[in-house]
Amino acid sequence: MLIVKKFGGTSVADKERIFNVAKRCIEDYNKGNEVVVVLSAMGKMTDVLLQQAKDINPNASKRELDMLLTTGEQTSVALMAMAMDSLGVPAVSLNAFQVAMNTTANYGNARLKRIDTDRIKHELSNRRIVIVTGFQGINKYDDYTTLGRGGSDTTAVALAAALRADACEIYTDVDGVYTADPRIVKDARKINEITYDEMLELASLGAGVLHNRSVEMAKKYGVQLVVRSSLNNSEGTIVKEDAKLERMFVSGVACDRNTARIAVTKLEDKPGVAFKLFNHLANHNINVDIILQSVGREGTKDISFTVDQDVAKEAVQIIENHRTGSLKCESVDVEENVAKVSVVGAGMMSNPGVAAKMFEALYNANVNIKQICTSEIRVTVLIQDSDVDKAMNAVHDAFELSE
Ligand code: ADP
Ligand code: ASP
Ligand code: MG
Repeated sequence: MLIVKKFGGTSVADKERIFNVAKRCIEDYNKGNEVVVVLSAMGKMTDVLLQQAKDINPNASKRELDMLLTTGEQTSVALMAMAMDSLGVPAVSLNAFQVAMNTTANYGNARLKRIDTDRIKHELSNRRIVIVTGFQGINKYDDYTTLGRGGSDTTAVALAAALRADACEIYTDVDGVYTADPRIVKDARKINEITYDEMLELASLGAGVLHNRSVEMAKKYGVQLVVRSSLNNSEGTIVKEDAKLERMFVSGVACDRNTARIAVTKLEDKPGVAFKLFNHLANHNINVDIILQSVGREGTKDISFTVDQDVAKEAVQIIENHRTGSLKCESVDVEENVAKVSVVGAGMMSNPGVAAKMFEALYNANVNIKQICTSEIRVTVLIQDSDVDKAMNAVHDAFELSE
């Protein structure tokens, strides 16, 4: 069997954990399997590097940031190879250049395009464990890129697809995918099986246990995933096309604090205004989520929408740049202390009343809703970020998602 095993930052945070991971991989290797390991940077290394960059230059270029951040993953793969070697098992570490992990050109949030598998296959055929840097790629300028925070999951799934691996295992610091972040909702329940679609919604709406692009890619290439703990042997969660019907009609609750709301007031109430507004943002690769447009009044209307908090300033600047031209308006305001809370579940389609039940739970918990957005399999509300824990627990309780 060819097995891809990915370990996150906490799983390789120190010497003891590195040896723990090394031993888990060697177990599979000794059974005769081919083993490819994908690692994240140790512990909170990526955050530490980002802070260092900010201290030196708060406006550092995205290219230099990627150059810096990729060192985190390079450190962990080299140390892991040394650990395995000291245990008497041949191992080799490879970075994005050595593998040739080709991505789109954009720094900070690049997409994987094509992976060469020759070098990895060659190393595997020499009976080596191959340890690959997660999160990083190279672009057409021969520069390092990164895949966005949490992107090592995507590296692992992409490798599993490219190598036609028999298994892709994502090891982390929780026992699997839960009905809500177990750090916020103490009695959240572990889900045994979940569909790609539901997992994709949860991940996109803030359940950071899997990078959303990794789920997108797993679905596209039919890579079945197992999410499990690196610290124990419990079974984990299987992510696949059709999950067992034991599921409730709501599979989980997620929150996203990396959210900001931008309100643009008194735009002209005429055709093309929304198009121009969102087109300017799209041209700068800014994703927009919940959109609200007011009823037109006296020839003007207001539009507000949410974006990721880390691009809010850029978004405001883009709109400001067009205020004297195509986007005449009275004001552009940004509110950062907001968060999204969502319920997700494929069963929602055939169960009316999910939204009402969620709103009732929030009302009972005295949480005010600022904005609402629904799709076939999710309901999202925008609330004050200080209300997140209360809201998550109230909604989780209302849908009886605990054991
Ligand atoms: P890694 O470094 O292993 O990639 P992450 O921190 O990226 O780990 O992801 C694991 C974390 O995701 C957990 O510690 C947990 O707090 C958080 N999380 C958020 N939502 C969920 C969920 N629905 N199920 C499990 N974990 C979740
Ligand atoms: N080290 C990167 C991050 O912290 C990638 C990852 O952990 O998946 O975002
Ligand atoms: Mg992660």
